[in-house]
Amino acid sequence: MALLQFMSAGLPETAVPTSVHCDHLIQAQVGAEKDLARANDLNREVYDFLATACAKYGIGFWKAGSGIIHQIILENYATPGLMMIGTDSHTPNAGGLGMVACGVGGADAVDVMAGIPWELKAPKVIGVNLTGKMSGWTTPKDVILKVAGILTVKGGTGSIIEYTGSGVDSLSCTGMATICNMGAEIGATTSLFPFNDKMGEYLKATNRPAVAEYAQAFKHNLVPDANCEYDQVIDINLSELEPHINGPFTPDLATPISKFAAEVKKNGWPQELKVGLIGSCTNSSYEDMSRSAHIAREAAEHGVKAKSGFTITPGSEQVRATIARDGFTDTFEKIGGVVLANACGPCIGQWDRKDVKMGEKNSIITSYNRNFTARNDANPATHAFVASPDLVTAMVLAGDLTFNPLTDSLKGADGKEFKLSEPAGFELPPKGYDAGANVYQAPPADGSKVEVKVDPKSDRLQILTPFKPWDGKDIIDAPVLIKAQGKCTTDHISAGGPWLKYRGHLENISQNCLIGAINADNGEANKVLNQMTGEYGAVPTVGAAYRDAGIPWVVVGDSNYGEGSSREHAALEPRFLGGRAVIVKSFARIHETNLKKQGMLPLWFKNE
Ligand code: SF4
Repeated sequence: MALLQFMSAGLPETAVPTSVHCDHLIQAQVGAEKDLARANDLNREVYDFLATACAKYGIGFWKAGSGIIHQIILENYATPGLMMIGTDSHTPNAGGLGMVACGVGGADAVDVMAGIPWELKAPKVIGVNLTGKMSGWTTPKDVILKVAGILTVKGGTGSIIEYTGSGVDSLSCTGMATICNMGAEIGATTSLFPFNDKMGEYLKATNRPAVAEYAQAFKHNLVPDANCEYDQVIDINLSELEPHINGPFTPDLATPISKFAAEVKKNGWPQELKVGLIGSCTNSSYEDMSRSAHIAREAAEHGVKAKSGFTITPGSEQVRATIARDGFTDTFEKIGGVVLANACGPCIGQWDRKDVKMGEKNSIITSYNRNFTARNDANPATHAFVASPDLVTAMVLAGDLTFNPLTDSLKGADGKEFKLSEPAGFELPPKGYDAGANVYQAPPADGSKVEVKVDPKSDRLQILTPFKPWDGKDIIDAPVLIKAQGKCTTDHISAGGPWLKYRGHLENISQNCLIGAINADNGEANKVLNQMTGEYGAVPTVGAAYRDAGIPWVVVGDSNYGEGSSREHAALEPRFLGGRAVIVKSFARIHETNLKKQGMLPLWFKNE
């Protein structure tokens, strides 16, 4: 959609270095090879459009199967002290390399690609002071799971989270990226770490020694100023930090592992663990994979296989090739793991899940970042928990949510009980990274003759036409299309999963507008009163009916409306269907901006 918007600017090429990444359209079904082949087949016209548009406008194109955007950025582009915006809320992942990286909506990105400065209300700065040293089962993921529990999904809104303190140096560079990545779950504008040796080592390992040297020379500018002041300070002693499990249904419900089994029983969460999923842009580094492989290897040595389903999503082709070379893939497969394509897959709802029926209550645990209702498998009864890859891997061996690998034992094939030892891994691959297959298309020196491929009859792609401008008249007596009850994320406003294939076709994807939001009037989803006819209908149908009758409408919502993914479709669709304003108690930052950019009025009450 951003490319379609950029095309309408009529410029010959982008004003700033830009890259495009294909990671959302590969559905997890049976495993990497077949899933990728099927995606290439099904999405051919979209990939052709992206490849030709990138070539025309001077944009680097990372093909399907190259990996998840944030891992590729970390491996190739992230640079200490530079600034970047990206059209995905987990763009702050690059803060693990000391970059000021912010997630924005597509329209913001298009402005920057067209040479227009990006604007942001000056954020506050929250300092997280890390002391002590991480060890045992505790991982960087547990830092952000703990911070999410403290700050909640709203606590970082309008703030940059800056990690400081002596504990920072005990974290790997990719571990710092994990922490910054999941800062999106607390609404932070971005998160970042000061430049240190771990970042320098990672830059060298990923073929960027010159960047490492340059950052080292300017290190004094890439660390907090002496005596700087923060708007809020959070202290965490890494030596005392327990592994955490967050969820279900929200990433800020944080429970330390020692108390988790009791919470499972108290709350009646399904105790049987159906599936564990590791990887995603959050936790798919070589270190993550090597620690999980350590656990899996030990289990295999005792003849133990995963009792739950177990999937592994490498974050990039480079990680996939490296873990295959180093034997981790074989180890995961030995205990029953299935390695999925280098893509978002189940994290964005691209999961052809077969082991439970829709509506069946069940538990899954992932090392991903988001666990909103129905996010992974479209099943609102799935209880999704978030934890480190270490805990996920240990728990699939037990197949039970109450298993605590720090205290509990597993039974080996010989009937004897054994305890898993503390996981150990490598921050960086001892034999270096294996780049794997060539998955990058560099733009040609002159793209002006390239023809961008869009079939006018396509149901996946549609050239954008400008919205009708405001007629200058006040909007009076606009009907409320829906009063959305409770949490209303961008997944509720513009669902992912099967809808993702229509992301380049505004008219078609608008058929998912607000279908996941609960109507406060009747407690139902996708059923609203058409005030012209007195009959109930689907939200997009009723919205379009008002539009076609020349009646502007509004949406009413609750707090932190539009949290979650930076999905600009959640703003484009209401505008396309004739909406004029969204009135709420408060907005998530990116969604508020997206609404403004698409000509929708975001209005909120001064006092919640
Ligand atoms: S869908 Fe998941 S894996 Fe993909 S970028 Fe978003 S959070 Fe990361």
